[in-house]
Amino acid sequence: MRRYMVAGNWKLNMGPSAGVELAAGIQNGLAGCTLKGDALVCPPYVTIPAVAAVAQGQPVYLGAQNCSDQDQGAYTGQVSAGLLKEAGCSHVLVAHSERRQYQKETDDLFVAKIDRVHAAGLVAVFCFGELLEERQAGNAEDVVKAQLAGVLPRVASATPENLILAYEPVWAIGTGETATPEIAQHMHKVSRDAVTGLLGPDFADAARILYGGSCKPSNAAELFSQPDVDGGLIGGASLKIEDFLGIIEAAEKVM
Ligand code: PEP
Repeated sequence: MRRYMVAGNWKLNMGPSAGVELAAGIQNGLAGCTLKGDALVCPPYVTIPAVAAVAQGQPVYLGAQNCSDQDQGAYTGQVSAGLLKEAGCSHVLVAHSERRQYQKETDDLFVAKIDRVHAAGLVAVFCFGELLEERQAGNAEDVVKAQLAGVLPRVASATPENLILAYEPVWAIGTGETATPEIAQHMHKVSRDAVTGLLGPDFADAARILYGGSCKPSNAAELFSQPDVDGGLIGGASLKIEDFLGIIEAAEKVM
């Protein structure tokens, strides 16, 4: 039985004071609860220390949205996994579609970043998923398989515990358009089968694969009921206390 994860990607929202309010609201909403899974919030870098003061580990883990592929030195503007750990993070998102799209990040960089995350003792959340044009051309499965094959076998020390996967169809991110539960299940199964081929059946069975793309309280339960969906990576709906808590509540109910 895999533990679910509900992760919030705050993106370029929430400075320190708004972030503390949001994180504290989530913590308070979960006070006294023993969750069946894990909750995670990923604020912007500058908000991480403030949020660390109110959420750092069970029941709400703290993560970053990105990290450097370098450990230290003359890399202006970069933040290493080691520094994130020191600031209180336990998780780091890698390869979000917005970084693929706007920063033109590549498989080589993803491998280097995930290795740095692991070397610092943190958990990487590796995002992948097809564009609308790729789905319309009938290539969604091949794209996802290639994204997984381009990174996973090259990561030096991946385990199901230190590498979480997040299938995020790009056409569903921030668009209000959600994959149907059938599409989500199908693509998660395709992904899990690909992981079986790349890293073996034990890894694939234990791997947590989150769904991301306009997930909200009203559709979370249906998505999370699918056998290969192990929770969600949430953008917009992670910015409101009641919505994020509503999604966690859905996970608690069905998983
Ligand atoms: C995301 O960017 O990871 C995401 C899932 O965003 P949203 O929930 O807003 O679609």
